[in-house]
Amino acid sequence: MIKARLAGLALLAAAACAPAGAETAPSGSGMAAAAQPAPASHVYWPVVTARTDWNTISSQPDCVRLRCFEAPRPVSRLDNPQRHHAGVDLFANAGDAVIAVEDGTVIGFYPFLRAATGEMSYAMLVAHEGYVANYGEVRENSLAAHNLRIGSTVRGGQRIATVSDTAQLHFETYRAGTTRNYSWGYHAERPAAVIDPTPRLQSLALSGQRLLP
Ligand SMILES: [Zn+2]
Repeated sequence: MIKARLAGLALLAAAACAPAGAETAPSGSGMAAAAQPAPASHVYWPVVTARTDWNTISSQPDCVRLRCFEAPRPVSRLDNPQRHHAGVDLFANAGDAVIAVEDGTVIGFYPFLRAATGEMSYAMLVAHEGYVANYGEVRENSLAAHNLRIGSTVRGGQRIATVSDTAQLHFETYRAGTTRNYSWGYHAERPAAVIDPTPRLQSLALSGQRLLP
């Protein structure tokens, strides 16, 4: 549950991290060495789904059903009350594959949000070049089902998780070095670690590769 993750904001040493804000630069070269950031041609949309609304990215001022970044969440038995939505919800079907948007390392996996069906969904944190992504609301068996563990390296386009019964991917982004998800109350400052994922998702929808079921 998110509220259990609010205390103790640990940051990793910067040694293994690229400068915050570093972006994957467009490149015409397909010959990048393995240790280099993935070129733009090697970034991927994070969900493999047959849904026709796959590329709907809710954003202000049209924040459909509170799916956009920073939407004020209502009080709900399924949710901790009166906090901002830290991610963007992407349409998917339960059981759809979640893929790494680019190369990275799995750095976190823990219970996240209970679906209306009763299933406890999980957060999967992956450190990418210059930022950390939370692939949120995935199935509990995602690590084992994909032969992954904390510390595993993943390639862009690799299947890393499965969409849970929430039937959406809750996608968040954070500054490099972040090791957990954050949320914040209606009247609180947005934590400095939180990055609005909307521009990245818009870019991925336009220029990332989309894998089909
Ligand atoms: Zn969400």
